[in-house]
Amino acid sequence: MTLTVIEPATELVLAELPQAGVEQADAAVARAKAAFPGWRAVTPRDRGRILGGLADALDAQLEALAQLEARNAGKPIGDARGEMGMVVETFRYYAGAPERLLGDTIPVAGGIDMTFREPLGVVALIVPWNFPLTIASWKVAPALAAGNTVVLKPAELTPLTALELERIAVAAGLPEGVLNVVVGPGRTVGERLTSHPDVAKVAFTGSTEVGRRVAEAAAASIKRVTLELGGKSASIVFADADIERAAAAAPMAVFGNAGQDCCARSRILVERSVLDPFMAELERHVLALRVGDPLDEDTEIGPLISSSHRETVASFLSDGAPVAFRGSAPEGPGYWFAPTVLGPIDSQDRAAREEIFGPIACVIPFTGEEEAIRLANDTIYGLSGSIWTRDGARALRVARLLDTGVLSINSNTSVRVTTPFGGFKQSGVGRELGPHALEHYTEVKNVYYATEAS
Ligand code: NAD
Repeated sequence: MTLTVIEPATELVLAELPQAGVEQADAAVARAKAAFPGWRAVTPRDRGRILGGLADALDAQLEALAQLEARNAGKPIGDARGEMGMVVETFRYYAGAPERLLGDTIPVAGGIDMTFREPLGVVALIVPWNFPLTIASWKVAPALAAGNTVVLKPAELTPLTALELERIAVAAGLPEGVLNVVVGPGRTVGERLTSHPDVAKVAFTGSTEVGRRVAEAAAASIKRVTLELGGKSASIVFADADIERAAAAAPMAVFGNAGQDCCARSRILVERSVLDPFMAELERHVLALRVGDPLDEDTEIGPLISSSHRETVASFLSDGAPVAFRGSAPEGPGYWFAPTVLGPIDSQDRAAREEIFGPIACVIPFTGEEEAIRLANDTIYGLSGSIWTRDGARALRVARLLDTGVLSINSNTSVRVTTPFGGFKQSGVGRELGPHALEHYTEVKNVYYATEAS
């Protein structure tokens, strides 16, 4: 079987690849299983050195990787360079981890009690198309640092940088079989990996719907599971905020990566008393957005990933929610969609409740802190969010009451290599990045050594 990879900005064929099926998934798991005893036995220092060497090798290929990711995922080249920089930093950060996987000693009677953090074995990593290599690196780097071997399944739409990662890793000295990339459909390769008896853990990023299926399949053999799923995050703009700054930051917090961002602040909650000035500022910034060719250095927003995804996104405009204003987008080939602001809309509207995963923002007015918190939490999701206010005490009071994993105050940033990332509620289970990720790629083993005859 052949997999045809399309460039979303041109609708032209970017690559034709062999497509894996269940048999290739099984073979990849077998290679990873065979490589596990050797990889876990590599000394912590050498494991760190190999991962550091991989970071350097990726850094040397940064521009080529960025160009490939920009073309395959339709993302602006500047964004793609930033993402590849994060990939390098992620491998660099976890290169320091093998020598820091510390255990405890626990005071007990009659002997010495100690804990070890042991690798799990073969881990299956399943990733989506919106940040293909970045999200893969958040999983591959801590998994390898902890001594696991890996089978990585990229999304069918964006497999190219994952294949490059495998090639670069082997050239950088990662032993054969430690990292195995399998390019194939979710319903065959993905399902096989989540139910394979030799896979100890599945780390999945994708939709909540598929995440539920992954958790069900993994339950049969009690695999460890971490899930990074959908979002419907809120940015809360209080009347005492720097309105100009909040309105200037809001567009890219929703429309960045053409809205195909699990952390998109797609619900903008605005205190009623400042709704008019906020909307006026927001409109000015949205109309100035540059949507176009991902390889043009000035582009801020590229196309959507596919024609069918564009249809799904467009369906949110046919429900009758009021369109406040729209930016512009190119005509012709490419899956373009003009950035659109709906509002003011009701928090019960479909566009305000479902993850759109496209460049549509919903503005929802509120009155007072209590209503802001209630509206922000009124969702099945809980991934990210922002609070805009000049009142520091209020910012922290509200932050503690929001059911969400990642929050920014007077900022829309979500991820850093060194800090934990993940969701509350149906946005997921577990944390990636920072020291927290390592907990999900190791088991704690407790060993008691009797020092006195009992
Ligand atoms: P998706 O759930 O359709 O696919 C994700 C991956 O799962 C792909 O590799 C796909 O092939 C695979 N897959 C599909 N069916 C499977 C099955 N039955 N068993 C195992 N694997 C299967 O998601 P997508 O459309 O690629 O990505 C968009 C979604 O990802 C959005 O909902 C978005 O919010 C979410 N996302 C979440 C995060 C996060 O960190 N929380 C980050 C990025 C994207």
